[in-house]
Amino acid sequence: MAKKWVYKFEEGGADMRNLLGGKGCNLAEMTHYLHMPIPHGFTITTEACTEYYNNGKGLTKEITDQIEENLKWLEEVNGKKFGDPDDPLLVSVRSGARASMPGMMDTILNLGLNDVAVEGFAKKTGNPRFAYDSYRRFIQMYSDVVMEVSKSLFEKEIDDVKAKKGIKYDVEMDVDDLKELVKRFKKIYKDALGKDFPQDPQDQLMGAILAVFRSWDNPRAIVYRRMNDIPGDWGTAVNVQTMVFGNKGNTSGTGVAFTRDPATGEKGIFGEYLLNAQGEDVVAGVRTPQPISTLEQAMPDVYKQFMELATGLENHFHDMQDMEFTIEEGKLWFLQTRNGKRTAQAAIKIACDLVDEGQIDEKTAVTRIEAKSLDQLLHPVFDPAALKAAKKIGSALPASPGAAAGKVVFTAEDAKEQGIGGKGDRVILVRLETSPEDIEGMNAAQGILTVRGGMTSHAAVVARGMGTCCVSGCSDITNIDEEKKEFTLAGITFHEGDYISLDGSTGNIYQGDVATKEASVAGDFARVMGWADKYRRLKVRTNADTPRDAKKARELGAQGIGLCRTEHMFFNGNRIDAFREMICSDTVEERKKALAKIEPYQEDDFKQLYEAMEGDPVTIRFLDPPLHEFVPQTEEDIEKLAKTQGKTVQQIKDIIAGLKEFNPMMGHRGCRLAVTYPEIAEMQTTAVIKAALAVQKAHPDWNMVPEIMIPLVCEEKELKFVKKTVTDTADKLIAEAGSDMKYEVGTMIEIPRAALTADEIAKDAQFFCFGTNDLTQMTFGFSRDDAGKFLDSYYENKIFESDPFARLDTDGVGKLMKFAVDNGKKVRSDLHCGICGEHGGDPSSIEFCDEIGLDYVSCSPFRVPIARLAAAQAAINHEN
Ligand code: PEP
Ligand code: MG
Repeated sequence: MAKKWVYKFEEGGADMRNLLGGKGCNLAEMTHYLHMPIPHGFTITTEACTEYYNNGKGLTKEITDQIEENLKWLEEVNGKKFGDPDDPLLVSVRSGARASMPGMMDTILNLGLNDVAVEGFAKKTGNPRFAYDSYRRFIQMYSDVVMEVSKSLFEKEIDDVKAKKGIKYDVEMDVDDLKELVKRFKKIYKDALGKDFPQDPQDQLMGAILAVFRSWDNPRAIVYRRMNDIPGDWGTAVNVQTMVFGNKGNTSGTGVAFTRDPATGEKGIFGEYLLNAQGEDVVAGVRTPQPISTLEQAMPDVYKQFMELATGLENHFHDMQDMEFTIEEGKLWFLQTRNGKRTAQAAIKIACDLVDEGQIDEKTAVTRIEAKSLDQLLHPVFDPAALKAAKKIGSALPASPGAAAGKVVFTAEDAKEQGIGGKGDRVILVRLETSPEDIEGMNAAQGILTVRGGMTSHAAVVARGMGTCCVSGCSDITNIDEEKKEFTLAGITFHEGDYISLDGSTGNIYQGDVATKEASVAGDFARVMGWADKYRRLKVRTNADTPRDAKKARELGAQGIGLCRTEHMFFNGNRIDAFREMICSDTVEERKKALAKIEPYQEDDFKQLYEAMEGDPVTIRFLDPPLHEFVPQTEEDIEKLAKTQGKTVQQIKDIIAGLKEFNPMMGHRGCRLAVTYPEIAEMQTTAVIKAALAVQKAHPDWNMVPEIMIPLVCEEKELKFVKKTVTDTADKLIAEAGSDMKYEVGTMIEIPRAALTADEIAKDAQFFCFGTNDLTQMTFGFSRDDAGKFLDSYYENKIFESDPFARLDTDGVGKLMKFAVDNGKKVRSDLHCGICGEHGGDPSSIEFCDEIGLDYVSCSPFRVPIARLAAAQAAINHEN
């Protein structure tokens, strides 16, 4: 039997979402099971869309035959014929993917009109103006959507007709004007395409269906899918439905309604409608829609029926519904229902209310909230009215969420001095790119804007860790001059002290001081988090380098620190001086002297991290970046260092030159530093163990087990070598203290070879933590700082659907991770495994981490609640 490619609404149901798309399956459910007033129609499946692409963007005969059969049926049930000169059948053709993608794909209304049918339509409706208006709109929409003829050509003709007549609004055009427009529109079509506007409704329909399938791959749909983790191979369904008209006089109308407020979650029907109007009029804003409550007076019976059906829909789907309806001459029709999009605040309230109303259980409630959306609750946001009035001057990568406004500064020092901490104003730090030296300035700024760098660039990673808004990689900025203190964007030159505003959640940049407000966290938030904690298996730790970050993360529910990047601690106060002395030492003795100055700082930092985590695990990662990143840049700093080191300026410059590498990310960094300079590992071990011993003493009821993590290992002997320094130092200190404190030594898995030799490496590692930033970089061979420059062409050419640095590549990098976990555990059954790359805070990556049996994920503090919720969703999905 031939495969079924087309389903009538009465043949489907809500459980066929994958095949019929969201709109199609709900129309089927409402028709087939709920017997609601739905105009007749049918759905062409998402599989037909996939087939269209497999078939070189064409439909097979089997599919077109089934469409034609269903069209015949549609004519029969409606008692109307396509193209009928007395009473033609008109249909809408609308997309509908599995996941809703509002406004991303195409829709065509009034299909079936032609030169003859328009007359029949005029007769039947008794309204020639309306008929010709529908026809000219159809030609316009069809030309644009199906044939890609520019909209502006049509707009020009409309303007011309109105100007000649001296009128301002479209509604002032009479039937003759509209007939004239139809004539002109058909000419535009012919001039552009060399053929007449199709008069056969069957041809129109096939063209429209192909256009909807094609629109699955339009650029805005591709971007939307990437942002919302929707796979490209899902495809869209196409719904062909009999048109009903809300513009047949004052007993007709059209509207949109929600069963709960999508902004706040408050229960009650929220919506708007317009009498004597089509959907477009509501959107166009020419007339102001009425609140739905006024329908009660206008049409009491329709109102009563609407309220009953809307409430019924919510009770049936057990979720807030977003509905479209039309009233045609006093008869109510539903055209669509779907689970409504909502803000995070509304999502939380609705989930809690539905649990209290007995509609859903806790696990379902947990799956109802989009984990990523919790971001909205944790960072400041722009005041909506202020944002509406603001002038957008550009956009770049949304590197770290939140809204920020302030005066432009160009250096970290200026940010510190002119910022609030320096008793100044709010500041936005604008840099070509940031470096570790900028840390204090970044901390002082409300927001950070960089010209270069991707989602895992220094600025992005550090800003996310701090919870500071950051927009990165704005290559539209020209003439940035940190000396002259100015840059140009959108033709405007900004100087130090000028206000700009950044939206780190969208990547948008605005001119001026746009008002922000603190996001409010409702009491229900904690309740949902409590449910998430009850149902998740994965533990959630945080990446934190400072006591402030650690405290914030703890407040947000972190169960330990999964990654402390110790190098980030070297920039506060005078520490950098001692650190530079260490780097620019010639002898072990000299180096040890400098390290001795650093050790107490580190020890104190570690103590504070341990205190913040109250006895929960803290993983300290040993020095990782290439040392060249830390050397002095200015002549003044070089001279200062030479003086303290008792060296000449030239000697220091020679050392700095010697540290330069062609490919620093693959150079002298990670554990390679500890192989060359074991005294660094010795100092860091000392700081870790001494701090843990002190904290253990202060809190005898805590069970301190410090975790030392060796980065960038690729070979078991390399790990063994560094580990020996660690254990020799630690064992001695613990024995001297008369303690029996345990500690663990583990490794990061961030080089493919480490993953491939995990069975060897696990002999020396008590834990693995996947550094998926480097693991992605090394597996793809893409620089994590530069990939942003070419990834766009990978999306455009459908080579990639998403950024592998933001969403874990489960096919490649993920395979290495699974291999490493499985093989590591064969050697050491109690090996514990986690992830601390940026993917540790990404919901779809967390789902994969749950699947391969990791023990924890670790992410920046502000992503901790997101990870808690995503971990629970992963566990519940896997259970189902
Ligand atoms: C990683 O590589 O994933 C990681 C966490 O380490 P870093 O980002 O500090 O290189
Ligand atoms: Mg790394």
